[in-house]
Amino acid sequence: MEILKTINEVRAKIKQWKREGLIVGFVPTMGYLHEGHASLMERARKECDRVVASIFVNPMQFGVNEDLDSYPRDLDADSKLCDSIGVDVIFHPEVSEMYDGGFCSYVDMNGLTKELCGKSRPIHFRGVCTVVCKLFNIVTPDKAYFGQKDAQQLAVIRRMVKDLNMDIEIVGCPIIREADGLAKSSRNTYLNEQERKAALILSRTIRLGEDMVKSGETDAQKIISAMKENIASEPLAKTDYVDIVDLDTIEKTDTIKGSVLVAIAVFIGKTRLIDNFIYKKD
Ligand code: AMP
Repeated sequence: MEILKTINEVRAKIKQWKREGLIVGFVPTMGYLHEGHASLMERARKECDRVVASIFVNPMQFGVNEDLDSYPRDLDADSKLCDSIGVDVIFHPEVSEMYDGGFCSYVDMNGLTKELCGKSRPIHFRGVCTVVCKLFNIVTPDKAYFGQKDAQQLAVIRRMVKDLNMDIEIVGCPIIREADGLAKSSRNTYLNEQERKAALILSRTIRLGEDMVKSGETDAQKIISAMKENIASEPLAKTDYVDIVDLDTIEKTDTIKGSVLVAIAVFIGKTRLIDNFIYKKD
């Protein structure tokens, strides 16, 4: 496995693979890798001839009061994990390699980003779309792998690829959880022991919502209220949002019909965590 830091090095490598007719899989990440990331890389490893993972904490997707500076980083541990999975190349650029002094072009989206995380993090998806578009242009993968853990991001990327005619297959992968249910996240490392216990309120609330939907409840407001009430029962938790949206358009829906995304964001102390489930009603 190679760790490449420049765009030119990645391009040279990819060109060589493409000349050989190899299928390239790509897993974009911000590093501090865990089994959630690993599941994406393992899937790419199975489905593609060559696998590239990027590790880049993208400043453009963080708001001013967010955790850009404290975001956890550990390239040594990340490299070991990638190597053990059989990743061929890690692309690990400096910020200056991705954004030079004159940078002023962005990929923005009018739909899909107004609700959920887009509401509480207004510039987030412009940063995500811009960096993912750049990474796609650099790596030119055949397939790119994203987790349902960030379900709105997955929907946004699918839309961007469709709208801008990018010739890349987007593969969505299921949420990987800790044994007790907490969705794996690099941000879980911010939690102290007490907060870690309190964070279980997220997966429990998701389960509550899922049980209600599966038992036939179709009134979105009723489900949202019950989920909010459940979060309020945990003293260390503060709801950012609980919402039910159409899976493709990410627009709010009053009734459970078609494919819906039930998504929550909750502050546990200062740490903002997200979780969700998807329900398809025929
Ligand atoms: P991040 O490093 O947080 O930007 O995540 C990189 C990719 O890993 C994204 O596509 C995430 O959705 C995915 N991912 C993060 N956590 C999980 C998880 N617990 N299960 C599945 N995929 C995940």
